[in-house]
Amino acid sequence: MSETAYKSQTPYHKKESSVLVICCSGYDFLPYTREFLEKHLGISEGSYDLLAVPGGAQFLLLTEYLPKFAWVGHRWVKFLVERHRLRKVIAISHEDCGWYKDDRLVPAFLQKFGVGPRSLKERQREDLREIAKSLQRVGLPIAIEAYYAENHPDGFVHFTKEV
Ligand SMILES: [Zn+2]
Repeated sequence: MSETAYKSQTPYHKKESSVLVICCSGYDFLPYTREFLEKHLGISEGSYDLLAVPGGAQFLLLTEYLPKFAWVGHRWVKFLVERHRLRKVIAISHEDCGWYKDDRLVPAFLQKFGVGPRSLKERQREDLREIAKSLQRVGLPIAIEAYYAENHPDGFVHFTKEV
């Protein structure tokens, strides 16, 4: 028989969730994302569904280049929204995201958007708007919000609303 390795400090209490947060799993921005959700949007830990994967909701846009990623992603979102009767999806991407800088994906982005003067930041912000459209096309009865997080020159993480 195995011994308990750890016991929670508070008893199990199931809260209701009405929101799905899709963000990047990157360790560096995740603590600030959680803080933003709790302090700014009033969504406390344990009261939202979290889908944290590399690159965040960008997987929804990979229908042509990585169709299996996109297919699985759409299934996850649909499953969670329907199963938990969610009313809102919040997509958050962040500055300097490693997913966007990966060599295996950059050519795909360049093909899709062309080699232009736009910065990575502009591409990511444009992706957030496309992600919102992609979620709308799924036809689920949900509200959609999208935010971009960046390490501001003041040394703090700033979140801007894109959708
Ligand atoms: Zn990232």
